[in-house]
Amino acid sequence: MNNGHGLSFKRLFSRQSEAADEEPILLPREAAPAARRQEKPAFPFTAVVGQEELKLALQLCVIDPTIGGVLVMGHRGTAKSTAVRSLAALLPRLDRVANCPYNCDPEAPSPLCPHCGGGGTAVTHKLTDLVPVVDLPLGATEDRVAGSLDVERALVEGVQAFAPGLLARANRGFLYIDEVNLLEDHLVDLLLDVAASGVNLVEREGISIKHPAKFVLVGSGNPEEGDLRPQLLDRFGLHARITTIVDIEPRVEIVRRRRAYDADPEAFAAEWEPEQEKLRNQLLQAQQNHAKVDLTDDTIAAAAGLCVALEVDGHRGELTLCRAAVALAALNGRTHTTPQDVAQIATLALLHRLRKDPLENVGDDIRIRRAVAELITA
Ligand SMILES: [Zn+2]
Repeated sequence: MNNGHGLSFKRLFSRQSEAADEEPILLPREAAPAARRQEKPAFPFTAVVGQEELKLALQLCVIDPTIGGVLVMGHRGTAKSTAVRSLAALLPRLDRVANCPYNCDPEAPSPLCPHCGGGGTAVTHKLTDLVPVVDLPLGATEDRVAGSLDVERALVEGVQAFAPGLLARANRGFLYIDEVNLLEDHLVDLLLDVAASGVNLVEREGISIKHPAKFVLVGSGNPEEGDLRPQLLDRFGLHARITTIVDIEPRVEIVRRRRAYDADPEAFAAEWEPEQEKLRNQLLQAQQNHAKVDLTDDTIAAAAGLCVALEVDGHRGELTLCRAAVALAALNGRTHTTPQDVAQIATLALLHRLRKDPLENVGDDIRIRRAVAELITA
């Protein structure tokens, strides 16, 4: 009862009094996203200047969500959240069951879905919607994130009264946490668990409910506000570092594009639509092809060699390198990987996995680049 899972009577009562004003359980959600869509279009992904590491990391996770999400570290005002929020408009829309709070695919509703129950009449209404990119606000409670169970109603009336949380809304999309390093450890832990398993299990007082929750976790943070614990760091697939651009030309371009977007967001989005469409098709192709990409032996050897040289603990390093290499080959329309793929994504996959060496006086990124130069690109 001390881990946040236990419900005291007090909490149960306060939940009930709140419940009266809250939206009914399993409320159809078309209204909100449709209304939001009337608002100005998001800044186009393809119009974000620079930040190639972050954009590549997001694309690789779009192609293969099992890479394990992205941790983005960078100072304020470096377009971290702009790039993430622009994903919805970039990605192909998805079909979903109209009233399903878990965004089930009408063609293949999740067998775990409490609403669709694997098919039947529940899935007759469908709609096409943007890929969900759900924001997890700082200070969100575990109930808000995972969903909450009305234990008393379940016990007394025998009904399954579950109010889905943000993990339900993020199914088949992205869950974005700004300032992830300020989130409580147990919540980060929960999110990483669910992201890895694709299933959210809520248990209270011996009652349990499961629902599908497959999403790409994207966490961002400002390095000045503290680091994530190493145990949590390591479970993010990729780590993109964002720096303030120091060249004048791209900085001028950032200002130009921002002004053009602010002046007329619709026109700006329309102007970039051909670029968006091109990348959208490329990602779609890559999603379809990535399972067929041949992960070659020399790629695996390069990944393992790099991890040995850099003394990376465990095997997540080379597993992530290999998955990302396959996704990269698919993105570039190739049928097999090469060690060059490993070289290109080495920093993204390993930066957060290096042991801190107090005697080492060069940065982790330089150590990685040095090892890549010695082992692969030499
Ligand atoms: Zn469903």
